[in-house]
Amino acid sequence: PVPVVAIDGPSASGKGTVGARVAEALGWHHLDSGTLYRLTALSAIRRGVDLGDAAALSALAAALPARFDGGRVLLGDEDVSDEIREEACSVGASRVAVLPAVRDALFGRQRDFRQGPGLVAEGRDMGSTIFPDAQVKVFLTASAEARAERRYKQLIEKGLPAKLESLMQDLRERDARDAARSVAPLQQQPDAVLLDTTSMDVDAAVAFVLDLVRD
Ligand code: C5P
Repeated sequence: PVPVVAIDGPSASGKGTVGARVAEALGWHHLDSGTLYRLTALSAIRRGVDLGDAAALSALAAALPARFDGGRVLLGDEDVSDEIREEACSVGASRVAVLPAVRDALFGRQRDFRQGPGLVAEGRDMGSTIFPDAQVKVFLTASAEARAERRYKQLIEKGLPAKLESLMQDLRERDARDAARSVAPLQQQPDAVLLDTTSMDVDAAVAFVLDLVRD
């Protein structure tokens, strides 16, 4: 089977950056699965679809005209890379993600990313549900404070509005929602290696994961 590295963990743990760098170093494909939930939320918000309407949301998710183009995320022909990172889409994504119908609608699309020579996939349920047979599973985390600070810096760098206090509050609420839901709750798999990046830089985290793959 095509090898998969599954990287799961909470919001703003650094999965995205680490996953992209590991994929690049290996020359493998990359799936940032959170993007699909964010795109579903963005489509719903734009169309005025209620974020609790499972039937309408799963139809939106199944038909998402999503494209990934060298790190940019497109919805149809529109580049929405920045918009899906805004707080409204972060919160919306974690709301639509509790719905089993939405998760089912995105299942096959995620599995399709598994193509040679390999895939680095990151999210919440890569190791548990989407790629349970992944060769390497990592649970990447960091303290809530460290994660809120990283998100804060990212937003400020992009010139976007950010408040540390409210980011921390949002992260905690999202973590609670991701961990408590009945389908694919965020939790470390028994066969996943724990990587706590609270006081580790990106280079060290990337090297750690690459060592696991090359072992
Ligand atoms: O990883 P990211 O912060 O982009 O994910 C946004 C939201 O999408 C998460 O808070 C989570 O609720 C949901 N998600 C998920 N399963 C995944 C990836 C993301 O439920 N595999």
